[in-house]
Amino acid sequence: MSSSITLAETAGFCFGVNRAIELVNSLLDDGKKVCTLGPIIHNEQVVQQLAGRGVVIAETPEEVPPDHVLVIRSHGVPLEVFRELKQRNLVIQDATCPFVSKIHSIVTNASQKGDIILIAGNSEHPEVLGIKSRCSNAAYTFRDDTELSELLKNHPYLKEKSVSVVAQTTFNTEIWKKCLEILKKDCTNATLFDTICSATQSRQQEAAELSEKCDLMIVIGGTNSSNTAKLLHICSGHCRSVLIQTAADLTSDEVKNARHIGVTAGASTPADIIRDVLSRMEEIRNTAG
Ligand code: SF4
Repeated sequence: MSSSITLAETAGFCFGVNRAIELVNSLLDDGKKVCTLGPIIHNEQVVQQLAGRGVVIAETPEEVPPDHVLVIRSHGVPLEVFRELKQRNLVIQDATCPFVSKIHSIVTNASQKGDIILIAGNSEHPEVLGIKSRCSNAAYTFRDDTELSELLKNHPYLKEKSVSVVAQTTFNTEIWKKCLEILKKDCTNATLFDTICSATQSRQQEAAELSEKCDLMIVIGGTNSSNTAKLLHICSGHCRSVLIQTAADLTSDEVKNARHIGVTAGASTPADIIRDVLSRMEEIRNTAG
């Protein structure tokens, strides 16, 4: 009986996360004291490793120790937080991902011109809070096509007004397509900006294709990572899919019973965790044989 374990090529750290982690490590290598506003990425193991090197996590600008370099994570921060950090004369290193900064400029310019901004994404996610804070005019968020339809029903004037629409960088590409159809039909004055980042698009597409060919998908990532949750959602549409944080979460029976296993990982999952999961799966299969 043929069997296989296939790792998605796009699994693991994306460009923006890699850049943020490298920045923190290079500051530490230079002997600097480093503080991040919130955990640098949604991955407990990486956060623990960095804590071991002395990285402090502050929840608010007041908590940042004045002798530490403050690193802004790849999601960016709301404008008022950025201003407060500046006012406190802290040394700031900004690791906001360029894909996120691009959305900041789009909404800043569009709302200055008078556009109402619509944001596809999770209204509580730090990236979305940062985007919304840069809208000087009215701004609304919606999670999916159902919420968008609801929004347009409750605020019918949005159909007539000049609106600009952006998406959270990690928004689900399939749901975005459905939202675009609604917007093109109902909001003829809307300017649509396709701001889902290319790393997210290819990761989601590969996860969908791979899960179609497998009977089990292992999705590796933090339980609080939104892009990992989206991967799990996509894969679950095609085959049995499980979310694990590390190799220790693998269930032997599950690995033994599946013939074709696909593996993908969220943007905050480091390569060594992916390697551990793959070798643990090989071990389980070899013992089973
Ligand atoms: S997922 Fe995309 S936007 Fe977010 S940090 Fe990675 S590359 Fe940047």
